[in-house]
Amino acid sequence: KQAKASGRPEVYEPKEASLARRRFSIETELRRAIESDQLAMSYQPLVNLKTGEVSGFEALARWNHPDRGEISPTEFIPVAEESGLILHLGRWAMNKATETLAGWDAEARERLPFNIAVNLSAIQIARDDITEMVGGALRASGLTGDRLTLELTESAIVQDPRRATRVFDKLKALDARVAMDDFGTGYSSLAYLQRLPIDVLKIDRSFVSGMMTDPDSVAIVRAVLSLAEALGMSTTAEGVESRELATTLAALGCVSGQGYFFARPLEQAEALPFWLSRLRP
Ligand code: C2E
Ligand code: CA
Ligand code: CA
Ligand code: CA
Repeated sequence: KQAKASGRPEVYEPKEASLARRRFSIETELRRAIESDQLAMSYQPLVNLKTGEVSGFEALARWNHPDRGEISPTEFIPVAEESGLILHLGRWAMNKATETLAGWDAEARERLPFNIAVNLSAIQIARDDITEMVGGALRASGLTGDRLTLELTESAIVQDPRRATRVFDKLKALDARVAMDDFGTGYSSLAYLQRLPIDVLKIDRSFVSGMMTDPDSVAIVRAVLSLAEALGMSTTAEGVESRELATTLAALGCVSGQGYFFARPLEQAEALPFWLSRLRP
């Protein structure tokens, strides 16, 4: 359409009006959903590519709307970020994930040998109370900080690198691990990798899924893996959808993998059985 090519259209088309309306009602309803427990947390395993064992779970928010059905986080997270609701949602996510891991420990009667990863939005990083929020969730759940991985995208850093350095240092002081999410898709310079205390690089799904057909993707993944190794960082490949990919990534030295080949994001009750099923005798 012409309007698209020239930037913002001057008149709203009916389609855009209905999109704007949907956006508005999502914002109003999300506010309620957070309060009324319509949000749930799912847990996708991260698998050690050498041993096949589960090394962690990433907490991914799910919204089951009573009338609209499942609404994807790719739709409601941006709305939450623009409306400021992300602070509320982010606190809910942190509390939920840490409580759940502490509950699993209690159920298993041991300190389980895996971590929980929680996504943090750039908006949360821009707030001074982020460390109190994370520290509070750790205290409330009784978990030590080393059980928690915080996943941040490059945009959180690029917006204000000095601030990101301060915040990262404080999060590290809690003993939490910091992972750079969607690595390779943002605009951060390699200098940030050197300056910031990053523990894990998560290689974006776009590079991983390209590996089977596109030699350039293989070259990129190989380069990221050797960069991570040189800098002493761990690595996770996102979007591992086949055995072939898992094998190739393992051969290239990638530490862990996450994707539909291993498991989709699981319901809370499915996570511990999955961990058990992959334990080596
Ligand atoms: P992300 O952090 O990059 O999470 C990985 C996404 O890839 C998840 O989508 C996951 O379900 C999907 N995925 C995992 N394995 C595969 C695979 O093999 N193939 C394909 N095609 N996809 C795979 P999901 O759950 O829809 O979440 C989308 C994004 O929403 C997340 O991307 C994250 O940026 C955001 N998000 C989700 N939950 C939260 C949250 O609690 N807080 C914040 N701030 N963001 C969240
Ligand atoms: Ca993530
Ligand atoms: Ca990611
Ligand atoms: Ca992603």
